[in-house]
Amino acid sequence: MHSLPSRDPLPLSLSRRSALLAATGWLVLPASALAEAPASPATWPRASQVPGGVALLSLGPAAQRPLAYAGEVPVLVLGDAKEWTAVVGIALSATPGEASITVQATDGSRRDITYTVAPKRYSEQQLKVEPRTVDLSPEDLARYERERAHQEGVVAIFSEPLPQGSLRMRVPVPGRRSSSFGLRRVFNGQPRNPHSGMDIAAATGTPVVSPLPARVIDTGDYFFNGNTVWLDHGGGLLSMVCHLSAVDVKVGDLLKAGERVGAVGATGRVTGPHLHWGVMLNRCMVDPALFLA
Ligand code: ZN
Repeated sequence: MHSLPSRDPLPLSLSRRSALLAATGWLVLPASALAEAPASPATWPRASQVPGGVALLSLGPAAQRPLAYAGEVPVLVLGDAKEWTAVVGIALSATPGEASITVQATDGSRRDITYTVAPKRYSEQQLKVEPRTVDLSPEDLARYERERAHQEGVVAIFSEPLPQGSLRMRVPVPGRRSSSFGLRRVFNGQPRNPHSGMDIAAATGTPVVSPLPARVIDTGDYFFNGNTVWLDHGGGLLSMVCHLSAVDVKVGDLLKAGERVGAVGATGRVTGPHLHWGVMLNRCMVDPALFLA
């Protein structure tokens, strides 16, 4: 989701992208799993144990899919009886150091699995924007608060994971991709939440498609995000596309990967037409680039 005062210029920097890709993390596997752990399937997101990244944590074998939680939030678990793996989103606000998830076996027993979040220093971006988009009027603030409360309900949706298929996403729209995920943003001198998605440059009207099979769980016209569609890919893996000029789906629609969702636009608070694409895992916005081939 966009931070309160966010706005979407397109600071496309290949060097930042390279730096991001170089900052991949490492797997933390129990010794028993290390001996036989297959490489994580090429169809899963790349692991990057940093704030805004994804951890792939082996849960070992079990006859049935175990439940896993980050705090109280359910976590995506993939695999099969030979080896289950938790696919854990790490919040941009996560403190580097040790973190853990709780795993609950089908007999109800619980255990913690720890992993390490490495520090990552995201660049700072100074932005000059219309004052009314930084210091909101009481009306705009009330609207934003209503929308935020609504969105909290949307992102709490946790459905069955997709059948053992690929989590590798197609880009929702072709175009120049920014690596602005995670940028710390300072609007008119005031620090605000970081940029929590990927911006893709494209002309108004360019079709936007679903990055994976999905169920539409929300559509709306929001103060910062403009016309927005939230997609549920199962197991707490969601994506959102924002600033659309057209929304061609409705809540409850089932989409195949590549099926049209709407069209690129410049609605909400933007400097020009582009797609803002956010990917969420266990209610953490994570870097969409980790899901691309
Ligand atoms: Zn954006």
